[in-house]
Amino acid sequence: MTLPICFDDIAAAARRLAPVAHRTPTLRSRTADARTGASVFFKCENLQRIGAFKFRGAYNALSQFSEAQRRAGAVAFSSGNHAQAVALSARLLGMPATIVMPKDAPAIKIEATRGYGAEVVLYDRRHEDREAIGARLAKDRGMTLIPPYDHAHVMAGQGTAALELIEDVAAMGEGPLDALLVCVGGGGLISGCAVAARHLAPACKVIGVEPQAGNDVQQSLALGRIVHIALPETIADGAQTLHAGELTFAVMRECVDEVITVTDAQLIATMKFFAERMKLVVEPTGCLAAAALLQGVRHLEGQRVGVIVSGGNVDLARYAALLTS
Ligand SMILES: *Cc1c(COP(=O)(O)O)cnc(C)c1O
Repeated sequence: MTLPICFDDIAAAARRLAPVAHRTPTLRSRTADARTGASVFFKCENLQRIGAFKFRGAYNALSQFSEAQRRAGAVAFSSGNHAQAVALSARLLGMPATIVMPKDAPAIKIEATRGYGAEVVLYDRRHEDREAIGARLAKDRGMTLIPPYDHAHVMAGQGTAALELIEDVAAMGEGPLDALLVCVGGGGLISGCAVAARHLAPACKVIGVEPQAGNDVQQSLALGRIVHIALPETIADGAQTLHAGELTFAVMRECVDEVITVTDAQLIATMKFFAERMKLVVEPTGCLAAAALLQGVRHLEGQRVGVIVSGGNVDLARYAALLTS
């Protein structure tokens, strides 16, 4: 079966992103190595533009619009980071953007999205269907809807995070990664990363990490079909997706070795680790992959392990409350 994206799509995305995205650092921590017995490489997408990897996919998608699409602009629906990513990408490319966001999204994310010049339309995520609202806006205004994960250009853009991580590990004089841990919401990030890893480090196991309360992808891979779940109660708001995408599921089926889960308590312990030991502000969702390793959910002693730290956008009051809980 041919997959929706291949390595060349990721390499092309990397060329488009090079002039505009940050090449985020790949950081090490002696404490993390000592605690896990592994050699751990953290790819810090909390330090990416807009504070998360989502800028990669959004810019890769919007930069491929036709002239007519550019004039009408982009629509996105998102709980936050994808919204900011589309808003900033649209501004950089000189096109309008309309963003559909839940009323209860963190205020910092709504404000940041408006700050990038996008129009924000709020909705109630318990009673309204964001996909229908986004589709209606796209139809009424002729704008192009860019979904947060189920889109080949978005998935290819996200894959550049793993491409850079794998290059950075080689540049440090280290051997190839044995394992790559990636958080999973709708599966856009892990799809791109898995395709990059399969090409650049074929022996590397790709392990997805979901919140325990929202393990729809773990269930989907076990059953061989996309499982839909109710809105999960978890502090990992960026992974509160109800189901994988058609395209992301096709890639995950083929290229992801397994999906494991972590609890909210393990996410909080990992946020504290990042703040205390690495001086990094990481949002709860951004801690998923690291939590699986640092909190002992998966033991990878003696292995070189890549960990994607996916984002750092969290309201300060909420951050403080979680760190002192
Ligand atoms: C969107 C997001 C995720 C989940 O990514 P998917 O591509 O939907 O799997 C994880 N972490 C952060 C910080 C995000 O913004």
